[in-house]
Amino acid sequence: MQRYIMTEPVFSMTINGQDYLGDGREAILNPATGQIVGYMPICTEEGLNEAVAAAKKAQLSWAKVSDAERRDSCNKIAAIVTEHAAELAELLVKEQGKPLKGLGAEFELGGCAAWAGYTSSLDMDVKVLKDDDEGRVEQHRVPVGVIGSITPWNWPLMIAIWHLVPAIRAGNTVVIKPSPNTPLSTLRMVELINTVLPKGVINAVSGGGHLGALMSAHEGIDKIVFTGSTATGKKIMKSAAGNLKRLTLELGGNDAGIILDDCDPAAIAEGLFWGAFINGGQTCAALKRLYVPDNLYDAVCAELVTLANNMPMGDGLDPTTALGPLQNKMQFDIVSELVEDAKTRGATILTGGEPLDRPGFFYPVTLVADIEAGARLVDEEQFGTALPIIRYTDIEDAIAQANSLDFGLAASVWSASRERAQTVAKRLEAGTVYINQHGALAPNVPFGGVKGSGIGVEFAQEGLNANTNIKIYNMVG
Ligand code: NAD
Repeated sequence: MQRYIMTEPVFSMTINGQDYLGDGREAILNPATGQIVGYMPICTEEGLNEAVAAAKKAQLSWAKVSDAERRDSCNKIAAIVTEHAAELAELLVKEQGKPLKGLGAEFELGGCAAWAGYTSSLDMDVKVLKDDDEGRVEQHRVPVGVIGSITPWNWPLMIAIWHLVPAIRAGNTVVIKPSPNTPLSTLRMVELINTVLPKGVINAVSGGGHLGALMSAHEGIDKIVFTGSTATGKKIMKSAAGNLKRLTLELGGNDAGIILDDCDPAAIAEGLFWGAFINGGQTCAALKRLYVPDNLYDAVCAELVTLANNMPMGDGLDPTTALGPLQNKMQFDIVSELVEDAKTRGATILTGGEPLDRPGFFYPVTLVADIEAGARLVDEEQFGTALPIIRYTDIEDAIAQANSLDFGLAASVWSASRERAQTVAKRLEAGTVYINQHGALAPNVPFGGVKGSGIGVEFAQEGLNANTNIKIYNMVG
């Protein structure tokens, strides 16, 4: 429920199916204008305890609900999110900054419905491992219990759905905590979802990193599903040790894209551009380092500059906007600093390179040439509208550089020959290697990182299984 203070609403947490206001509130600002969108209520430790207790109680009955009913609940979530897509998309634009159109908020809401619906079609089948004169062994999938979900600010609703729906489909209940940068759309979505689920099955609490830390140490939470930075993922892993929580960690990336020397730059330019700049580059599996061979270097740079200079950036509510602002001041400062570092090292700024002179966190698409390993823009995750374009002569060198960092979310290889591309793809250390595209995700394709980019996968049967424990019935007689 939204209670109005002056003109901006105070959003509510949901605990045990009821509105919950906590203690205090924080203003959430529109990154395009600086105006207040609404207020996030702050959850206390007592509030978190109530949410976990409600989830624990609800889990006992939710685990007994038939599989058919739990399948149906996924479809109900898809339906209620679709019914309220216009309202949720507008709220998402206002607090997150992304465009309403294109690969923006409407697209994100479409993804929510698609993932929720697909999850209903997955199976929780029993496997018979042995059935003979000696006896019978069955492998069942049982819920883990109460799942704590902690989400980031880049795709807040879609990532919330990725956590919530497989969790409840498998018979768990959830306490979700959205990012304090973009909490409002998730609080509203959970409130809507509560109209179609039994109370206590999905609870939402809001607050900052302190609340997340309380969740990852909470004895009543059996598993944490976390999407966010590698640094926070490591903290969660430490504090989750108390009760040996199960973990799925979807962490940061610094995805390399390697172009092979047989590509047509004009044909691949748009795929490269959106691979890097979907959601203003604030996407875990975005192309964040581009390796280009000598023979194509100038042509690839020229194609990308033309695209960048023709891409409208502005307030996401304007239907002509293709790129919005960066979501928050911290991210704006990171992108600015990494570009400044590149300049001091003598890199060439092909386009962009200075913040836009207007209110909001607008940083234009910035293409940086003549840059190499050692520059912060190459070695660190920029998570924004700047891309380093690195020249290479020897493909062995490009492969070595791509694998040199402690990240392994995704990577891409671009070539006129799938066979040549696959030879390089086999050698890249990443959870997903794309060929002639970058960043595509689907509910029937497992997704997850290796090395510092995470533990475990989401989506598809493997993602659903990650929300279960295996239970064996070993029978004789
Ligand atoms: P973040 O790690 O700062 O915050 C993520 C969430 O963790 C927030 O809800 C935050 O409040 C909470 N948190 C902060 N400190 C905590 C603590 N000590 N214990 C528990 N929770 C805590 O990340 P962010 O800035 O919101 O998101 C950007 C990062 O997320 C990028 O690195 C990006 O690559 C990554 N990301 C990864 C994926 C993926 O699927 N691998 C998807 C999206 C984003």
